[in-house]
Amino acid sequence: MTHDTPEFDVIARHFTRPAANAVLGVGDDCALVDVTNGMDLAVSVDTMVSGTHFFPDVDPETLGHKALAVNLSDMAAMGALPYWAMLALTLPRVDHDWLAAFAKGFFDLAEEFNVSLIGGDTTRGPLTLTVTIMGEVPAGAALRRGGAKVGNDIWVSGYIGDAALAVAHRHGKLVLAEDDYHEAVMRLYEPTPRVALGQALRGLATAAIDVSDGLLADLGHICKLSRVGATVDLAAIPLSPIGTKHVPSDAGRNAIVAGGDDYELCFTAHPNSRESIQDLAKMMDVLLTRIGQVKRGKGVSLLGTDGKAVKIDGRGFDHFSAP
Ligand code: ADP
Ligand code: MG
Repeated sequence: MTHDTPEFDVIARHFTRPAANAVLGVGDDCALVDVTNGMDLAVSVDTMVSGTHFFPDVDPETLGHKALAVNLSDMAAMGALPYWAMLALTLPRVDHDWLAAFAKGFFDLAEEFNVSLIGGDTTRGPLTLTVTIMGEVPAGAALRRGGAKVGNDIWVSGYIGDAALAVAHRHGKLVLAEDDYHEAVMRLYEPTPRVALGQALRGLATAAIDVSDGLLADLGHICKLSRVGATVDLAAIPLSPIGTKHVPSDAGRNAIVAGGDDYELCFTAHPNSRESIQDLAKMMDVLLTRIGQVKRGKGVSLLGTDGKAVKIDGRGFDHFSAP
């Protein structure tokens, strides 16, 4: 009888599950998938590094959820339906309890969204998680960043800012009450990817992005690729009770508009679509709020109730910008 090496033991024990959506899953040199005729293959990859993207003491089940959730969110932002994921894991050591909890978080979410893990890679080194996700979108119908037009409305789903408020609290930039912190940190660790919403927005939204680096920064990406500018009304940004408490302070406001990790969708749409979008919000039971307008020009300005620009420190997370 042969025994698996630790690497293959990890793969066999924790990451080999039936891959319902695939022709061939974990175990061979490549996975095989059958792509539907008339669909574009949507592909995205995200890396999470310990200490950069998550606190090193994070619960592994939560981390498994988040590693997949951020990728599902990219599918949502494109209006794509996710099917297949690949997981590249770099681990400092083999800890089977940790891996079992991580796999539980990952597969619970994968099952919820009918996504199959079809392969990956397992190596030793500083804790790093890379997930590749693949899905399908009808050819030509994907929600791109480049489609916003002058005069379009700007919308967001859900509440903005709770995840960033939890990060700001952890970094000592502001203080959340204990209950508020526990609630906000769940938004940070267990975001709900807006996959169904993304698909429903095909044909309604002119451009879309998920809010991962910060509302203003991510909207800035839409503006850049669409060659337009934008104004956002601070008072229109949908806030949870926690956000409402902290928006009056500079640190709170900065976190809300420039912090990221909400994984809500920000999208643009023609004003004629307002009613359809509100109907969609009701039908899907998700909050959709109009927060601003696409303008001629460049860049995103945040406007106060007096119509004047509000100054914000920092515009979102960038791995290589100077501190
Ligand atoms: P190769 O040497 O061809 O890269 P590996 O030995 O790395 O193959 O992996 C063996 C099989 O296990 C492959 O099918 C690969 O996709 C899968 N695999 C490796 N690590 C993981 C992981 N963390 N999660 C899921 N599948 C994995
Ligand atoms: Mg390999």
